[in-house]
Amino acid sequence: MIKTMLTFCGILIASAASSQDIYIQAGKLVDTKNGKVLSEKTIVVSGNTIKSVENGYVQPRTSADSLIDLRTMTVLPGLTDMHVHLESETNPQKYLESFTFNEADFAFNSVGFAKTTLLAGFTTVRELGGSGVNIALRNAVNAGKVDGPRIFTAGKSLATTGGHADPTNSFNRKLVGDPGPKEGVVNSIEDAAKAVRQNYKNGSDLIKITATGGVLSVAKSSSNPQFTEEEIKAITTTAKDYGFHVAAHAHGDEGMQRAIRGGVTTIEHGTLMSEKTMDLMKEYGTYYVPTITAGKEVSEKAEIENYYPALVVPKAREIGPKIQTTFGKAYKRGVLIAFGTDAGVFEHGKNAKEFGYMVEAGMPAMEAIQSATITPAKILKMETKSGQIAPGFFADIIAVKEDPTKNIKTMEEVMFVMKDGKVYKR
Ligand SMILES: [Zn+2]
Repeated sequence: MIKTMLTFCGILIASAASSQDIYIQAGKLVDTKNGKVLSEKTIVVSGNTIKSVENGYVQPRTSADSLIDLRTMTVLPGLTDMHVHLESETNPQKYLESFTFNEADFAFNSVGFAKTTLLAGFTTVRELGGSGVNIALRNAVNAGKVDGPRIFTAGKSLATTGGHADPTNSFNRKLVGDPGPKEGVVNSIEDAAKAVRQNYKNGSDLIKITATGGVLSVAKSSSNPQFTEEEIKAITTTAKDYGFHVAAHAHGDEGMQRAIRGGVTTIEHGTLMSEKTMDLMKEYGTYYVPTITAGKEVSEKAEIENYYPALVVPKAREIGPKIQTTFGKAYKRGVLIAFGTDAGVFEHGKNAKEFGYMVEAGMPAMEAIQSATITPAKILKMETKSGQIAPGFFADIIAVKEDPTKNIKTMEEVMFVMKDGKVYKR
């Protein structure tokens, strides 16, 4: 037994000694922990981990090591988008896909969307609900079979009957059936617990609920409360047993308050959030994930004839343009903010537009960057691994042309992407 272990250790030592390090010379480097932009640093990457960050431009120490010259660029930790849907992307035929697509169609499409997201500089995402194909996608990315960001997935979102994420909304009566907790539809405390456990069984990492109506579902209300507070509490307490946090989609104020008091970790969209609710968010330490980009994109697409079903158009016009103003107010009032876009509702890869909208609404650029790095790491319990360029952290590293604290739009043109020590864009 001891002999085997020694041999095993011997192999480990040998492989560590022969490993090649990558030296990344960074003209500027965003220190997300301290909120500073540093100059002339060298990041040494070993395997999938950052080994050290050294002052000045350091040359590779052995002939096996390699050099990446980013001296003309600003280097940042890989970004996290806390709200994406990687299984699909907006298009005028989207509503037909429920009837014409099989799981394999969603799966093949998701491969492209995952890669696009990664190449846009997002090395981690929280996937907030699809058919469940997103779980297989996460596994394929983790196994190195598909190029994509680290995925934390909610699997299938939980809704009540006719609620925003009821998968059979607007279907004709022959097709509609009666979906239950297995399909993510809950109507009681018992259903709520079962649906969470079903998600655990399916392989989800967290739970998403649709606490109020939504814009893109073919249903009348964009904002009515759709869960009782007791149902939400049953979801969050069961979720805790499995180490899951809960994300709540919410546009309306009453549903939002129930979700916050019910113990969810994040509020998504938060469109009609009152000042009272903002204070409740602060009291409970609930994070706000604004998705301003989705709001703007959806309201623009609502003006294209026949892009959305008739029932969706007035909701998109009403809700979409309001998110940025709500975000500005919530930020100024001191609500905790985590970066999220709802990509999929608009074209994947445009995620970084959100930074510009956040800054436009009054958030300093550095804080916007922190909301996409150190804040998500905290929520995802990755704070010692993700969101910083520091020793021991994942080698998730990106670069942009300019200093984003001087020109935030530079975030929309990511020039270099490394994830887990592997270069995907150069
Ligand atoms: Zn969403």
